[in-house]
This record gives sequence, C-alpha cells and structure tokens, in this order.
Amino acid sequence: MAQGLEASQAADAEAPDLNRLCDKVARYGRPEDTEFIRRAYSYADRAHLGQFRKSGDPYITHPLAVALILADIEMDATTIAAALLHDVVEDTGVTDEEVIRQFGSEVAALVDGVTKINRIKFDSVEEQQAENLRKLFMAMAKDIRVLMIKLADRLHNMRTLRYQPVEVQVRISKETLDIFAPLAHRLGMYSIKWELEDTALRYLNPQAYYRIVHLMAQKRKERETYVNEVIEILRERLRAMDIRSDVSGRAKHIYSIYHKMASQQKEFNEIYDLFAVRVIVDSIKDCYGVLGIVHTFWKPMPGRFKDYIAMPKYNMYQSLHTTVVGPRGEPLEIQIRTWDMHGTAEYGIAAHWVYKEGGDKPNVKFAQKLAWFREVLEWQQDYRDAQEFMETLKVDLFSDEVFVFTPKGEVIELPAGSVPIDFAYRIHTDIGNHCVGAKVNGKIVPLDYRMRTGDIVEVLTSKQSYGPSRDWLKIVQSSQAKGKIRQWFKRENREENVARGRETLEKEIVRQKYALTDLLNSSYLADVLQKLNFAKDSEMYAAIGYGGLSAAQVIGRLIEKYRRDHGPVEVAPPVIESKPQGKASPQGVRVLGIDNILIRLAHCCNPVPGDEIIGFITRGHGVSVHRADCPNAADLLVDAQHVIAVEWASTPDMFYSVDLEVLGLDRTGLVNEVMNAINETKTNITAVSARADSQRIAHVNLTLRIRNIDHLRGVVERIKRLKDIRTVRRVIQ
Ligand code: MN
Repeated sequence: MAQGLEASQAADAEAPDLNRLCDKVARYGRPEDTEFIRRAYSYADRAHLGQFRKSGDPYITHPLAVALILADIEMDATTIAAALLHDVVEDTGVTDEEVIRQFGSEVAALVDGVTKINRIKFDSVEEQQAENLRKLFMAMAKDIRVLMIKLADRLHNMRTLRYQPVEVQVRISKETLDIFAPLAHRLGMYSIKWELEDTALRYLNPQAYYRIVHLMAQKRKERETYVNEVIEILRERLRAMDIRSDVSGRAKHIYSIYHKMASQQKEFNEIYDLFAVRVIVDSIKDCYGVLGIVHTFWKPMPGRFKDYIAMPKYNMYQSLHTTVVGPRGEPLEIQIRTWDMHGTAEYGIAAHWVYKEGGDKPNVKFAQKLAWFREVLEWQQDYRDAQEFMETLKVDLFSDEVFVFTPKGEVIELPAGSVPIDFAYRIHTDIGNHCVGAKVNGKIVPLDYRMRTGDIVEVLTSKQSYGPSRDWLKIVQSSQAKGKIRQWFKRENREENVARGRETLEKEIVRQKYALTDLLNSSYLADVLQKLNFAKDSEMYAAIGYGGLSAAQVIGRLIEKYRRDHGPVEVAPPVIESKPQGKASPQGVRVLGIDNILIRLAHCCNPVPGDEIIGFITRGHGVSVHRADCPNAADLLVDAQHVIAVEWASTPDMFYSVDLEVLGLDRTGLVNEVMNAINETKTNITAVSARADSQRIAHVNLTLRIRNIDHLRGVVERIKRLKDIRTVRRVIQ
C-alpha cells in the first residue's frame, strides 16, 4: 500500500477546506509551512482513498477537520501535518518508517503517539480506571501535542456523532465526559472542553440539554438587558479613567449549568451566573484598577473574590473573579484579565505554542514551561489553586508504577521495574506458569526486560513449559507474581521439591563437617518435625525445596540435639566436664555445662520462657540467646561451631519484653479495643504506636511485659478474638 503513495506537491487545489487551512496557518506560521501542509494533505488523501466516514463523506474530511481545529488555536505546522496524517498508520497500510521518510521523525512521533492512544480500550470506564487512563495519557505523551491532536480528533468525532448508532453515541459521549473533557480542562483548553461537554450532554441526556437551552433562550432577553446595563456603566467609567478595555457579556456553557443544577440540587431559576461580564485590558495593573472600580460601584459578595492572577490555577489560568450585587440587586459575576491571560484561558497550553517573533522554532521558554506543565498534569486530583498544588508537589505519583498494554489494548498497571513475568501472572496464573518468553512492541525480549510505560507486551507460552524457574523470584517485582510462583513450587512440584530439599539439607550437613548418620537419626528428626509442625519428613524436605524453610534452621536444631548427646567438641571450654549442669542466669537461662557465663537475651527476637532457644558464643560478650526460629539465628547457625545448647531454668519471677504487631482493618476505636483486650489479661503495656498504610490496614505496634510463652499465647488469643483483626505476630528485628 505504501508504494504509489509518494507524496506529491500537486495537492488537490479543488479542496476549499484545504485552502482555508493553509490560509489560517499562513496568518501565523512560516512561509514554507503551506507547502509542507499541502504535501501532508495530499499524502493522507491518497492513503485514505476509497475510505468513507459514517456520514458518507470521504475519509480525508475527518483529518482535515481535525487540522482545522488545531489551526484555530494556532498550532505549529508539525502538529497540523501530524493531524492530517493521524489515522494513516492505524487505518491504512502506511508504516511508521514511511511517515518518517516522508515527513521526518517529529511528525512521525506525533502520529505514533496518537495511534498508541487509539489502541487503548475504554470499556467499563469506572472512575478509578478513568483516572488511570488520564494518568497514562500524561505518562505516554512524551510530546503534549499528541494530546492536543487527540482532543481535536475527539472534538470532530463528537461533532459528527449523529451518524453513529445510538449505543455508540452513548458510549463515546460517556468516554468524552469521563476522560477527554477532564483532559482538556487540565490542558486549560476551555473552548474545546466546553464544546466536548455540551455535545456529550446532548447525547447522554437530551431532555436536560434541550430544556436548559430553551430556558436560557427565554431568560436571555431579560438577562441581556441587565448585563448590557452593567456593561454600559463599566465602559463609561473605564473610559473616564483612561483604561483601554474590551467589556463583553457571555453566557455560561450548558453543561456547567446542568452540572450546577445536578450537583447543588438547584432549579434553573436559582442559578444566577448564567451570564458573566468579562473585561479584558492591556496590563495586570489595569486588572486591579478595574477591580477597584467594580467594587466601588457594586457591593462584592463575600467569599466570591478569587485572585487567579497572583495565584494561577494549575493549568496556568489567570484572571480576577468577583461576584457583585448588581444594579438590580442580583448577583453578577465579573471576570477581569489581560489579553495574554485571555489567550491562555481559551486555548490553554496551545496559547503558548507560538512562534518566536522572527524565529523559526517554537518559543524556547515554552520548553521549560512545558516541563513544568507536564509535572502539573500528573497530579491525580484537580487542585483549587496554585498554592494547594505547590504543597502537594513533593509527592511523586508516577515513580513507582508503569503502565503497559496487552496486544488488545487493555491497560495493565504494574510496579515500576516489572518484567514480562509480572505481566503474565497479572493476566492469568496459567499464563504465568507456562510463560516461556515475551515480545515487547513486536520484538522478542529477555524475561528480565524491565517494561516501560507504553510498551505493548505479548506473552509467549508453551504447553510443554516446565513451569516457573526459581530464578524468577529474583526478578519479578509484583507480590502477586511472587506469591503465584511460590505457590507453584509448593503445590505443583511436590516430589521434585522433596528431592531437592533433601539434597540441600544433606549438602549443608556435609559442608558443616558432620556425618549424615550423626544428624539424620530418626529420634532427632522426629523431634525437629514436631517442633516445626510437620507431620512427615517429606513435608519438611518439600518446604526446604520451595524455599519456605531454610536448611540452616533445621540443621541448627539437629546439631543442638547432637551436641546435647555428644558435647560440643571443638569449642568446649574446659569447665564442661566438671559441671554438667549450669546455673541459671538472672534471665532464667541455663547454658548446659557452664556456670558464671554472661548471658544476653537477643533483642532482635526477645525470647521468653517456653520459646525454643539457641545459644551462640560471642566474642567477648558471653552467650547470646535467640529464639530458634529467629532468622538472625539461622544466619549465625551457618557457623555452627559457636552454637551452644541452652535451656530455660525453672521460671523465675520475671518479666520479658515482647514486641507484637497487630494488623487489622483501619477503623476508629480499633487501637483502643486492642489495648482494652490486653488490659483484660492483666498484662502491662510499655509502649504502643499505630499507623495506617495505603491499603487501609492499621499497624498497631505494642511492647508488652510477658511472663512466659503461655502468658503470651493467652494475650495473642485474646487480641485475635477482636473484630477486624487480620494477624498478630511477634516482631523480629
Ligand atoms: Mn481520527
């Protein structure tokens, strides 16, 4: 198809709209722009040849109309050309490379951006999804002009929506209200925003729309006289004060009235600001001058004055707004701004897309403004004023997520740094488990490829796949993928896990220079199984195999048993032989065979009497006592020579500090209920703190004075009986 599409300069001179477009651009553009635009038109015209709109018009009328909308807001020739070409890659056989060759990479990048946005599916636009999509647009559109073309595209599609079947009209209109009108708002492109909203309302709620149109027409006469009265007074005063100004009245757009009636439950009669008076002057100084005059004539209504000049809106909108009690005692809104501000108010960001005087490139300062603006656009909510916005500027919403697409155009949101495996598991567990490779933007990538926003990802699967690899756990980012991979190793691969677990354990035993027969005797094993809550040794081996239990944890216990029977050969201090029983330390811990040795309870796991414990000989600090299941102990066990058998002596009258973390649904009263429950068990609380995380889970951290393990169990059981409690766990640092 691309062949025979050589761009020709002999553009269709018959097309009146093309001439209109060129005339418009000639008024603000460079002399060579016209030829470039005619060339783009001619190329698009040939590419779309034989295609028609639902209206029956040749397809080219659509891109041409889109280009005209953009010329109205004085966009540069690159944008206009891209607008003319915006559907050629999507709807004709023309390739990206071909567009680059014919019109350069800048135009091609804009066309590509629009094409990508068009691939996004908008079905089921719930608020959250809509917000995601808006964010996505921002993140995707490396060039903000992509969004401008898309908005113009949508505007023309709305203008010609009557040719679509009713269900399409409703879907497109809803999408427009949910996504595109807010986008236009963010870009400050109010004239496009208003038309989008009014047109959408006409299809979504024609009754309300036509009723408001009708009522406004009725009211117009009456209001016009009133507004004209005000305008006359103002004009006269301003002339007398020698302030050059343009004073006019304007009607509010229909959707804003509809929205006000609906959201504030008002009747049409109760809406006073159907019309507003607008004063445009030459300088900021004059703005405040006009404001002074307005306020001396009419009483300002309290709370209605807004200084958007000193504090611009986030979308760069600037104006003074005030509502006064007008000559007939009715409220009247007056907006005061300079011509510059007026341009921004109508066209938003586009108003700044101007050529430098005499130069041939868009305003350089604009590039900086754009960078700032893009940041602004990324905010999740609409902020009332610039100050509020600046305060929230410190949080970065985007740094921790990435948006990618399925080949069908659905948006998938994942943590930043995610790889195709994360994507595969997000789509379906089976797809994840059978994933053998991935294509990103049509090219095969390694499975540890870090996806970027805008990537189109296709997962390659195979029924013969052996299943996930253990290495995947190291590269996936989403907890979902991690969980699914672990689950697979746990459930689907039991036998292999048992074998691998046994092998790992045996290797580790040999590495620590013990004989397998010494440690793996059935009585030791039975003991360890019971302590670790496994019914059979195969379950324990499987747990080691899938990574749920470390070999060191098991070996530590086995070595301890072995030493109890045979004595710690290597490190045994000489006192051992003479004193087989040690005396209990003040903490109630006894080191088997040793007296008078300094004993410390480890602060990472805070053992209490009844906990299974392990002792470690430390250099110069005596014996440090850990809970046997403390991960730090597992680390220390690697150097098994320093392990020493310890046990609890008869429980002394003593209390031990225990740190607990309670997780529960974040609701009022939860912390109090937890504390009351603990008090009921007659337990002292020495510290408490609480916070809620982003998932609305409350984390309550408590330090308790605990006598022994049974006491602790009682407290935990009591807390667990409370409503909305997820888990209670001992904290290990
Ligand atoms: Mn289009």
